[in-house]
Order: sequence, then C-alpha cells, then structure tokens
Amino acid sequence: MLPPIVRRFVAGTDAPAAIEHVRQCNTDGIGGIVNLLGEHYEHRASADADVRLYQDLIRAMDDAGVNGCISVKPSQIGLGVSREAFEENLSMVIETAQEHDRFVWIDMEDHTTTDATLDAFETHAKATDDAVGVCVQANLKRTAEDLERLAAIPGKIRLVKGAYDEPPSIAYTSRAAVDDAYRELLEFGFREFDGRIAVGSHDPAVISLAADLHAEYGTEYEVQMLMGVREDAQRELAAAGVPTYQYIPYGKKWLSYLYRRIRERRSNALFALRAVLGR
Ligand code: FAD
Repeated sequence: MLPPIVRRFVAGTDAPAAIEHVRQCNTDGIGGIVNLLGEHYEHRASADADVRLYQDLIRAMDDAGVNGCISVKPSQIGLGVSREAFEENLSMVIETAQEHDRFVWIDMEDHTTTDATLDAFETHAKATDDAVGVCVQANLKRTAEDLERLAAIPGKIRLVKGAYDEPPSIAYTSRAAVDDAYRELLEFGFREFDGRIAVGSHDPAVISLAADLHAEYGTEYEVQMLMGVREDAQRELAAAGVPTYQYIPYGKKWLSYLYRRIRERRSNALFALRAVLGR
C-alpha cells in the first residue's frame, strides 16, 4: 500500500494497479505509458527480473484491452551491467511488445548513456518500423545533431527539457537557455517528424507552441505528461482531440521518483507537506 502522498504520482505497487489506472485514463480519452520504477542496476539478475516483469505487464495490458504502452529505462534493463546486457534485454522486451502490438518507449538518462541508448533505438526502430520511440533532452547541446540523425530513420521521439543535472560543457544549464533550445528543437521536430513527435512537457507555453506548429505545418503530434501533474490540462487536450498520453509509474521503488517530482517543483513539495500534515 502506498502512502497517500505517493499516490498522486505513482499508480500502485503492482501491475494490476497500473493497468487499472490506465483504464481510468482511457475513460478520459488519455492513453497510458506505463513505467515500472527501477534504475541503475549493477547486477544482471536485477535487470533480467525487471525485463520479465515488463513482459508480464505487456501481456496483462493486452488481456485487459487497455490503450497503453510501456516506457523503459536503459539502466533498469541492463545498461549499468554492460551494453550487451542492455541490448539483449531491450530486444526481449520489444519482441514481447511486438507480439502484443504494443509500443515501447525508451527513456533517456544522464549523458553518459546517450550514445548507447540512441544506438539501440536506431537498431530497433529500423527493425520494427515505428514500434519504438526514444526520449531526447533539449538541455543537451548535442541534441540538435542527434535529431538530424534520428529524422532519417523510423521511430518516434519524445522531446523533453531534461531531468538530469549535466555539466555546462555539454548542456544548457539556465532555464531560459533550455527553453530556447526546446523551442528550436520542437520546430525542427514539427518539420521533420510528422506523426512521430511527442511533446513531453507540462509547460503551457510549449503546449501552445506545439498547437501553433501543428497549425503551421499540419504535423501530427502527441502530448505526454506525467501522472499527477496538470491532469486537468491532460483531460482538456484529449477532449480537444490532441492525442494525449499519461506517463504512469508503478512499483515498489517509488522513493527516488517522488523525490525527483518534489525537487522539480515547489508546489509538489507543498502538496506533500499538506498531505503529511493532513490538511
Ligand atoms: P518546466 O520547465 O519544469 O516548467 C514549465 C512550466 O510548466 C511551469 O512554469 C508550469 O507552468 C508548468 N508546470 C511544470 N510542472 C508543473 C507541475 N508540477 N504542476 C503544474 N504546472 C507545472 N526527462 C528525462 O531526462 N528523460 C526522460 O526520459 C523523461 N521522460 C519524461 C516523460 C514525460 C511524459 C514527461 C512529461 C517528462 C519526462 N522527463 C524526462 C522530464 C522532463 O525532462 C522535465 O524534467 C519535466 O517534464 C519538467 O519540464 P516541463 O517541460 O514539464 O516544465
């Protein structure tokens, strides 16, 4: 059982709870992107165990008939062990997803993992023709070049601002610089990734820019937001006909995820404090 403050951001500790949350999202016209919490595994057994849980999750989503897909973290399925372990495990997850006609997103972690993540994505994007997507981070200076490479192959991209603290030598570190980079990359994405771009942001300015770019270029796109963040906006977008997905974490390893949400935004910290105080 999750503490009440966690329940806003995490669907539950097991797959049935996550699937039930996807079902609720579906009633508002919102698709689910389910993520089993876990990262930075150093032992193959832990990575393999989560791969089996993802495979079970995919089968259970199919049985339940919900509109949902999954998102995996490279360091959760073996990248912290070896590149080989990651690639083998990713292949297994994608194979199961293909059997059940489910899409697989690959989250992006810190900059030391970018090359391995994009290489693995490229292999599977080409092999599955659009059944996988990868996250790219606007705060990394390399992303403009990465997007040129990705535009030439199949698969989707999710553009986010970037959740990891990165050194100034390789990343924009001020909020304004990241926002500027995001806008430029989004415009490039709307020109080059028709039907293959996901806007991973809660920022009203970004969401409205995406609508403007859609009007200008006619590009099909989707919006992705996190569970527990601007859910009213998610429902409004879906009701207005914009394909909208909610990223839904579940599992027992929720502490570091909650910490990240709280660190990201003061109002989340106040929400947590009010919940603790029972007000
Ligand atoms: P910010 O720049 O943080 O805020 C801009 C504005 O958005 C705020 O001023 C406010 O108006 C609004 N806003 C933001 N948060 C809230 C809130 N909690 N409540 C109300 N309004 C709010 N990062 C990665 O590095 N790798 C990933 O794989 C990854 N996957 C993601 C998947 C999804 C679906 C999403 C939504 C984010 C993901 N992120 C990932 C996180 C991302 O990089 C950002 O850290 C995070 O989304 C915050 O940036 P933002 O664009 O949402 O808004």
